[in-house]
Amino acid sequence: MKKKLIAGNWKMNGSLAANEALLKALLAGVGQPACQVAVCVPAVYLAQCQALLAGGVIELGAQDVSAHESGAYTGEIAPAMLKEFGARYVIVGHSERRQYHGETDELVAAKAQRALSAGITPIVCVGETLAEREAGHTEEVVKRQLAAVIHTNGHCISEVVVAYEPVWAIGTGLSATAEQAQQVHAVLRAQLKAASPNADRIPLLYGGSMNAANAKSLLAQADIDGGLIGGAALKAPDFLTIIAAAS
Ligand code: PEP
Repeated sequence: MKKKLIAGNWKMNGSLAANEALLKALLAGVGQPACQVAVCVPAVYLAQCQALLAGGVIELGAQDVSAHESGAYTGEIAPAMLKEFGARYVIVGHSERRQYHGETDELVAAKAQRALSAGITPIVCVGETLAEREAGHTEEVVKRQLAAVIHTNGHCISEVVVAYEPVWAIGTGLSATAEQAQQVHAVLRAQLKAASPNADRIPLLYGGSMNAANAKSLLAQADIDGGLIGGAALKAPDFLTIIAAAS
């Protein structure tokens, strides 16, 4: 059975002192989990977190990456740079970047491709807004978002992680029910299966107000292979409870 993956998305939170306290608490409590664990931290803290996590079971990730290899792209960070600081994962296409930075499906797909070529696993986020769900467009939206990544990445698609994050559930405390999440995950799995013979090994994470109380039922679903966790990843006891639920 493949191991589940529990990844924290710290978003634009943290400080040198807070990061150290959080990671020390996680390292003290995590033991030898039966799942994989990662934290996706703000890029400026990668060096600090790389040092704190060295030799431990918690892996490191970033939250965004450039679609370019190097050059005149002020403010951007190349995947090779993330790699130098120990990033194993990078989130691409988070709804906050699609919404506030105008990231298109094509740009997200290009970022995933660039990450893969540098040896970093992209965690590709897809998800519908509340208006799209209420209009009955959930499947169409997530399939369109994933299709762009499949189209650009071809046979490498089996190397990505996909996170289904309904936009209406992110940071709202209003998680999708386990059944709602599983329904969309099954659609994504079928789409991946049509694209790759290795689709079963692609981790499909759920994200959107996953917390210590609801993690177990979400993670028990057939096509939910882990979680991408925002708010609850900033509280060591909550994140540790979610890791235990996945183990
Ligand atoms: C996220 O931003 O990826 C996320 C899932 O946030 P939250 O858990 O806070 O809803």
